[in-house]
Amino acid sequence: MRTLIFSDVHGNIEALNAVLKFAKKHRIDRYVCLGDLVGYGASPNDTIQKIQSLKPLIAIRGNHDKAVTDMEAIETFNPVAAAAIAWTKAHIAKKNLEFLQSLPRGPLTVDNEFIVCHGAPFDEDFYIFGEFDADEAFDYMKVPLGFFGHTHFPVIYTKRDEGVECQFLAGPINLLKFEKGLSYLINPGSVGQPRDRNPRAAFAIYDHDLKQVRFHRVDYEISEAQKKIRAAGLPPALAERLTHGL
Ligand code: ZN
Repeated sequence: MRTLIFSDVHGNIEALNAVLKFAKKHRIDRYVCLGDLVGYGASPNDTIQKIQSLKPLIAIRGNHDKAVTDMEAIETFNPVAAAAIAWTKAHIAKKNLEFLQSLPRGPLTVDNEFIVCHGAPFDEDFYIFGEFDADEAFDYMKVPLGFFGHTHFPVIYTKRDEGVECQFLAGPINLLKFEKGLSYLINPGSVGQPRDRNPRAAFAIYDHDLKQVRFHRVDYEISEAQKKIRAAGLPPALAERLTHGL
């Protein structure tokens, strides 16, 4: 069994298509989306329809999905993010809005084997930004494996007897082989708006039989995504940052 784990697509269909093109060449049995399907990017409808077409799919909502569906107050967003939410609300098709509304709140436990959440297991909007946060998150996990998104940083937190260890992912491919008795909290990074100074789309493939997670980055047509953002009248900074992976 191989599961594609991806997060934070943010309406970037070019990045999502590149990820799925890669996935097609590798056997994928299941798709897990960790939220924030929309916001920032100019292709919310194409993105939602593409994600909805993935089968079998497990998906949860992110804070941007909630903001677009009026489940979260926009006051918590910075001006650029808020402008993108307003734009997305004005352009999203009704059936796609309904799909966002139907997304469950994390955490979800899958097959009694791993959990998925957007932010943290104790709060879907919380940012896990270090060992201290991760340590608290581990306390809420009844299974030894969890996947989260929200920060747009690919990272592995490992819980050992001595404490929590943090490992940032760099380079084109990285592999994590599970060690017996340890617990892991993993962020696959962001498909549509990476923020680790690497502009390539980030995602991970969890191989249940080999007990390992492989982290990937793929190139995509950044200029095409940027062209759409500018043409849509979204804040130009949202196009610019994609070049730098910020
Ligand atoms: Zn996000």
